[in-house]
Order: sequence, then structure tokens, then C-alpha cells
Amino acid sequence: QASTVMRVRVAPIAVSHVLILAEDHTQARRVEEVRRDFVANVSHELKTPVGGISLLAEAVLDARDDPDAVERFAERILVESTRLTRLVKEIVDLSRLQVADTLHEPVIVDVRAVAAEAVDRVRVAAEAHGIQLTLVGEEGLRVFGDAELLTTAIANLVTNAVNYSGSGTHVGIGARRNGDSIEVSVTDQGEGIPAAEQERIFERFYRVDAARSRATGGTGLGLAIVKHVCANHGGRVSVWSQEGRGSTFTMTLPAAADRPRVGTEQPHPQ
Ligand code: ADP
Repeated sequence: QASTVMRVRVAPIAVSHVLILAEDHTQARRVEEVRRDFVANVSHELKTPVGGISLLAEAVLDARDDPDAVERFAERILVESTRLTRLVKEIVDLSRLQVADTLHEPVIVDVRAVAAEAVDRVRVAAEAHGIQLTLVGEEGLRVFGDAELLTTAIANLVTNAVNYSGSGTHVGIGARRNGDSIEVSVTDQGEGIPAAEQERIFERFYRVDAARSRATGGTGLGLAIVKHVCANHGGRVSVWSQEGRGSTFTMTLPAAADRPRVGTEQPHPQ
């Protein structure tokens, strides 16, 4: 828990008056703590794949007379370096999101279109896992935001649904309006998440089962990115889950006003 830090400066401005300036340093200190923890986490997380790649490269050199072993080690180098590339990309994405808590140049975004793009990005992986994806979305759902960030967030949820579910199951992606909000939900029939862990999974690098996450190529950053994307859009993400039955993740975002704000209106076709 961060305690409040106030710096109070007292300056005489006239014989009978003093000017008291009170600055709130709580936020600045919290930002610094977040930054320091992030750097510590990142160095720890980078060491694993980098160390793995070095060991595997040594193994290749030692096994140079055994072509089968060389091939096996080279394949594992490829897996580790792919994971490293993803990790670096997600670290950059997350640090950008953490620094700016608002969006750069928000525009009107069609939610069904970004959900469809997210589903397309995960379709090949889903098919490889024997998992069927179904998108059900109302037309005309619009939010004010960043299409690429929203696509990434939804794709992260769908990727998790695929990675933590068994073959032959189904993942449903839904988009609907609920009052002044737009809800995007991703429901799986997978292993579920123990109740005690459900809050912590949104922390960066937190995994219920680290070995399982690594085996699926996970970085532990997917849900932290979803949380920050939702927050930057003025929304939130929540989870319902039961062990052995499955999970539903729901992103709740403020619906864009029916009349787009000045400057964001799309040109009308002639
Ligand atoms: P990871 O890269 O490890 O998947 P995430 O931040 O996306 O990282 O998720 C954090 C952890 O939450 C995962 O390691 C997993 O334990 C759990 N998790 C996330 N989504 C699901 C899901 N749909 N079903 C079961 N567990 C999940």
C-alpha cells in the first residue's frame, strides 16, 4: 500500500501572509515503484530464454557429429527465439501502455470488425489445437479508441482460451451492447482458473502454472496488456471462471456516442 507523500513548501509573500504549496508526490512515487518492479521482472524473464538459447547453441556445437541431435537442438533454439521475440514485443507494448494512461489519437472503431480481425489472427492456432472459434456480434457497435490495441487485447483473450482448453472444445466470442457500454466476451470450455488466483492473473508475469504457460509459448503479459488497453479506453476487464468448466473474460468499454465527436466523423460516400 502506497502511503500519501506530501511536500509542503512555505514561502513568505508579505509580512502578514504566507503561501503554502502542497504537492502530492504519492502518484510520482507509485509510478517510480511500478517502473522499478517492471525492470526487475523484465530482466528475470529475459534471462530464461536467453540462457536457454546459449545452452542449446553449446549443445549444437558438442553434437556436431550427430545430425539428428543437431536438428533437435536447432528446433528448440527456434522455439525459444520465437518466444523471446514475442516477449520483447509484449514488453514494449506494455511499457508504452503503462506510461500513457490515455490513447494517442482515438477514432471511432467498429467493435465487430476488430473482434473478427482478432479471431482471424488466432484461427490457425485454434485449428491446430482442434478448437472451434465462433464469433457472434451485433452490427453497429462502436467505441472511441485504437483499433490495433483493441484487436491485440481481444486476440490475447482468444489465444488464452485456445491455449488453456482441450482439443474438441469450443470458444465463443461475443460482442453486444449493454446500456452505455459495449461488452466483448470470450468464453471457453477449458480448465478454468481457481477462485483464489482470479484477481492475480491480470498482474504482469503472473501465471497459475508457469510450466504450463511456458509450454504454450506464454509470456505472462497477455492479460496485463488486456487490462491496460481496457483502462486506457475508459473501461475494464473481468473474469468468471470455474475449475474444470471453463472461463469467460469480458471487456467492458464505453460505447461511442451516436454522433461522432467533431473531427472524427468519417467522410460520407458520395
Ligand atoms: P500467459 O502468457 O501465461 O498465458 P496471461 O497474462 O495471458 O499469460 O495469463 C496469465 C495466466 O492466467 C496464465 O498463465 C494462465 O494460468 C491463466 N489464464 C489466462 N487465461 C486463461 C483461460 N482462458 N483459462 C485458464 N487459465 C487462464
